[in-house]
Amino acid sequence: MEHEQEQYVCRICGYNIIGYMKEQCPFCSAAQMKLIPSEQCSLEYHVEEVQITDEVFRVQTVPELGYRHSAYRIDSDGKSFWIDCPSIFDKSLRSIDAIRFTHHHFMGSSNQYKKLFNCAIHIHEEDARHTLSRNFPLDVRFTGDYSEDSIDAFHIGGHTPGFTFYRFNDVIFVCDYVFFRDGNHGTRLNPFGSERDTRQGLRRILDTAEDRAVRLVCGYDYVTEFPVWKEKLEKLLSKKPSSG
Ligand SMILES: [Zn+2]
Ligand SMILES: [Zn+2]
Repeated sequence: MEHEQEQYVCRICGYNIIGYMKEQCPFCSAAQMKLIPSEQCSLEYHVEEVQITDEVFRVQTVPELGYRHSAYRIDSDGKSFWIDCPSIFDKSLRSIDAIRFTHHHFMGSSNQYKKLFNCAIHIHEEDARHTLSRNFPLDVRFTGDYSEDSIDAFHIGGHTPGFTFYRFNDVIFVCDYVFFRDGNHGTRLNPFGSERDTRQGLRRILDTAEDRAVRLVCGYDYVTEFPVWKEKLEKLLSKKPSSG
């Protein structure tokens, strides 16, 4: 039998460390005590699907883990896809054909799901090269925009050089490109990455979504109506950038 390699999950951010223990989380710098063996995480947590539309499901860890990141499942033409990947490895989930990453921050336990489902893993070339991606199996390193299986991929960079948002029917998937809050305060661009490029990327999301009559926005910790999201973010873009 093949020897299972070591794997640890950061309880704070959900990043998976493959093959060896680190002194701290390479993504969020949490202390070693926050790094939990993957098998133990699979006992403490599970992953649930919540239906959003006929073909889109929110895939989230229960109980909530760290950043409360959600991945999403799309059922399209007899195939199934995830946008990003849960941190927790839950063998009871329905099989998928491919994982499409928005960027390299939420690769979760995609290496374990790849073994289980034999799914293809897609990520933009520029994020594939990042050190955080190094130990993850990556099958398709795309560049630019593309469309496949009724899912459109738009490479916008900004938050990370390879950041890509996705559209399926009237839903867009934007992960953590912006932090969105319901109230009057707290909605902002993800500050990690060039502000100028992230503003340009957000402009492209808004324009593309407007053109294609998008109805819902799926983010890393929220699902909201596009018009509500758009109004807040247009306001944000109308303000002067804080630098440059
Ligand atoms: Zn972490
Ligand atoms: Zn990110």
